[in-house]
Amino acid sequence: MYVNLPGAIYMTIPDNILTLQGELPAGVRLIAVTKTQSVDRIREAYAAGQRIFGENKAREMEEKHPQLPPDIEWHMIGHLQRNKVKYIAGFVSMIQSVDSLELLTEINLQAIKHHRLIDCLLQIYIAAEETKFGLGLDEARHLLMSNEFKSMKNVRIRGVMGIATFTNDIDTVRKEFRNLSATFRLLRDNFFTADSGFNEISMGMSDDYNIAIEEGSTMVRIGTRIFGIRERKD
Ligand SMILES: *Cc1c(COP(=O)(O)O)cnc(C)c1O
Repeated sequence: MYVNLPGAIYMTIPDNILTLQGELPAGVRLIAVTKTQSVDRIREAYAAGQRIFGENKAREMEEKHPQLPPDIEWHMIGHLQRNKVKYIAGFVSMIQSVDSLELLTEINLQAIKHHRLIDCLLQIYIAAEETKFGLGLDEARHLLMSNEFKSMKNVRIRGVMGIATFTNDIDTVRKEFRNLSATFRLLRDNFFTADSGFNEISMGMSDDYNIAIEEGSTMVRIGTRIFGIRERKD
């Protein structure tokens, strides 16, 4: 399938994947964001060697998962309502969008039901925009200090995730990513031991992943640059 992209016109999905994989330094993983994309297009990315896919809706992920190979790692990257955790808890590899203690509590309960340990990232609020979900630094601290969190055995916090402001102003974006890196280090140094697995910073999308990598990203979440411009805008 050929995709229409400014700057990468008529590249195929596999070409885009291979180009990106070639660009990423060691230690940075590519999450191919497949929201709104058909199972066939995801198969093309899979054929190019891509194994980690990100979706932002629980029902969409639940529907695609059984139609695709079992060695795919599914990452939830969108705002997740508590009553929808049950649809993905049996197979999801990582929930990157944990933005409340209540949500984490439900993930833990569902993980217990499925006899699983579910990896999670704390979504940290870094953008100037009001509409973005996420925890402030103090809220993240409170969550990690709470007895509820300390008693959870079936979730593992692996790091942080953030979405920068949607702007062409590179300095703003860089500052926000730098902020997220600083938050990551602060939480790590105060709440996690070296062997805890708290080592992921998920930041960077199609238009800003190079800046994110310079600022310490370990996971970039890229949709448009692989699959072209989405018709559904979410
Ligand atoms: C859609 C989405 C992405 C990918 O955005 P692109 O600009 O298409 O690369 C990354 N992260 C989240 C949370 C998203 O919702």
